[in-house]
Amino acid sequence: MSIKPDSSLNSEYPVVDKEEFNTKVQNYYKTHSVNSKKLEWTRDRIEDVIKLLEDYNKAKFRGIRATNKQYHHAHKYDVIKTGNHKVLILKRKDTSHPTLEMIPTEDYYQKILEAHLATGHGRRDKIVNALRTKYMIPIFAIKIFLDLCRVCMTHKNNFRYNFKSTPIKPISSKDFNMSGQINILDFQTSPDKDYKWLLHYQDQTTKFSFLRPLKSKDVKEVALEVLKIFLQTGCPNILQSSDGIKFTTSVLSEITTLWSACDVIQGQIIDPQNEESIEKTKQDIKNMIQAWMVDNNGTNWSFGCYFVQFQINSSYQLTTHNTPYKAVFGTDPRLGVTSLSENMVTHFSVEVKVEEGSEDSENNEEKD
Ligand SMILES: [Zn+2]
Repeated sequence: MSIKPDSSLNSEYPVVDKEEFNTKVQNYYKTHSVNSKKLEWTRDRIEDVIKLLEDYNKAKFRGIRATNKQYHHAHKYDVIKTGNHKVLILKRKDTSHPTLEMIPTEDYYQKILEAHLATGHGRRDKIVNALRTKYMIPIFAIKIFLDLCRVCMTHKNNFRYNFKSTPIKPISSKDFNMSGQINILDFQTSPDKDYKWLLHYQDQTTKFSFLRPLKSKDVKEVALEVLKIFLQTGCPNILQSSDGIKFTTSVLSEITTLWSACDVIQGQIIDPQNEESIEKTKQDIKNMIQAWMVDNNGTNWSFGCYFVQFQINSSYQLTTHNTPYKAVFGTDPRLGVTSLSENMVTHFSVEVKVEEGSEDSENNEEKD
């Protein structure tokens, strides 16, 4: 299993493939280059415009008439110096306005990635807002980026999977630890010794799950169990919880107290549709635990939950076209010398959300 480095920005396994993003941006320019407004800002073009503006200023100083091209550019752009570095910016009405830097297309990826992660996988408007006072980046590039984000894609597919949609890339170990979710299940009515709660921690992309019995749903106890998982598998970029942002924040701050290197972004509020799917997940896990207790003629689910965990991770998921185990480890689990028997892989349906006729809601999801 690959363990992701702590930094979410310079990750070896980015949420968006840089090469794929750049290719799509280039293709966009190829098909839109007829329109001069869609000319690509290459590093050379930026340097040319800086030179042109400097010539314009020199000409103005000497009282020489500027060319139309110089006028045109001087009306739209400006050059400022930061240290020894000349920066091309969008012309400001006055110096109190923010400086919007013209950056070359090869820098779009990093800037959008930073804004997207800093806003907790924020959609278009959040990214635009985050970049608004810093860089000039065209909307189409942000759109291309969002369409390629594996984490966003997974969230979308969790509750609106559509067979007719373009096939998703097979989920593999490099998708592990992009984002994780905490669910707490209530077992107060059927406690096992001191255990009254069950922690379900799930890696959202691979669907790899961890189940841990809890004596309480106290932040400290939950945080400690989540920390143990992180110390085994590394930390996700983002953590969210069905118990709300406040709870996640407390858990994260408790984890950071114990492990300062852990640098996880707080996830966004879970939307109602996803909430529905979480409730279904919780119920499915409870049913599986119930089934385990019946099969084993016992009530010690604090032990049985580990079998259920294995069952979940060995089961095929429609949304990922894979078993969580295979997505993370690249192969199905072995049971010692005996190879995995067919009936071990039960058809676990926790995250299967096939909604007939869901196209309408899908179309409404993103507004352009
Ligand atoms: Zn995303």
